[in-house]
Amino acid sequence: MTDPDLSQRLANVRGGIADAARLAGRSVDDITTVVVTKFQPVSLVRELLELGVRDFGESRHQEAQVKAAELAGSGIRWHFVGQVQGKKARQVRAYSSVIHSVDRESLVAGLATPVADQGESTAELDSSVVDCFVQVNLTEDPARGGVSIPDLAPLVERVLSAPGLRLLGLMAVAPLGAEPKRSFALVSELGAQMRGIAPDARYLSMGMSQDYAAAIAEGATHLRIGTAITGNRPAAVNLKTS
Ligand SMILES: *Cc1c(COP(=O)(O)O)cnc(C)c1O
Repeated sequence: MTDPDLSQRLANVRGGIADAARLAGRSVDDITTVVVTKFQPVSLVRELLELGVRDFGESRHQEAQVKAAELAGSGIRWHFVGQVQGKKARQVRAYSSVIHSVDRESLVAGLATPVADQGESTAELDSSVVDCFVQVNLTEDPARGGVSIPDLAPLVERVLSAPGLRLLGLMAVAPLGAEPKRSFALVSELGAQMRGIAPDARYLSMGMSQDYAAAIAEGATHLRIGTAITGNRPAAVNLKTS
């Protein structure tokens, strides 16, 4: 049994996406909706699976790892949308289909597959490829995550030369207080510039619960939508209360 409110919210968002796509003269088939389930229980992910959702987003490694293990074999594509700690990079890679938040050169080394030393057998080497986005920071605040615009091109080059990573394009979060449509237009422009060095990186991960229509108008191909579908997130459990 699925919660009628959940299926209603999902239907509303799907309708909103279809409307925004129509207005933009775009096909909904070119838009992937990632339902962000951070802080939500596995039971909610299962309900969404029953409702046909296959792309799920998580932003905290430990939580994502537990959910991915519990739901192994379900056909879910996990999208990692949070900041990746360097020492957890290989673990994040292990369960993720897409990593949306590549934001620094040191992380690329951690995410890439190891290259065989000369003479070493290649039989045991990981030949898998993981899709990724480079996250761009549209603010002046480094804590918001993402590479600064001046450092974007070198990071893109670094990803392109890393074995085992396939660059899909750019990801961004619209800054608070700014007009989302203008922010997304900038990301779209940066994406077009970047295709000079990465012709296949034509995807854009942008748009959340409050601003997905504006993102679709500016060419988003991957929406990351949480609360508009899931309802409010449970308050973060404070582990330090005892
Ligand atoms: C939580 C989160 C989202 C979803 O946010 P909502 O406002 O709940 O839609 C999208 N992207 C990232 C990076 C997030 O951390």
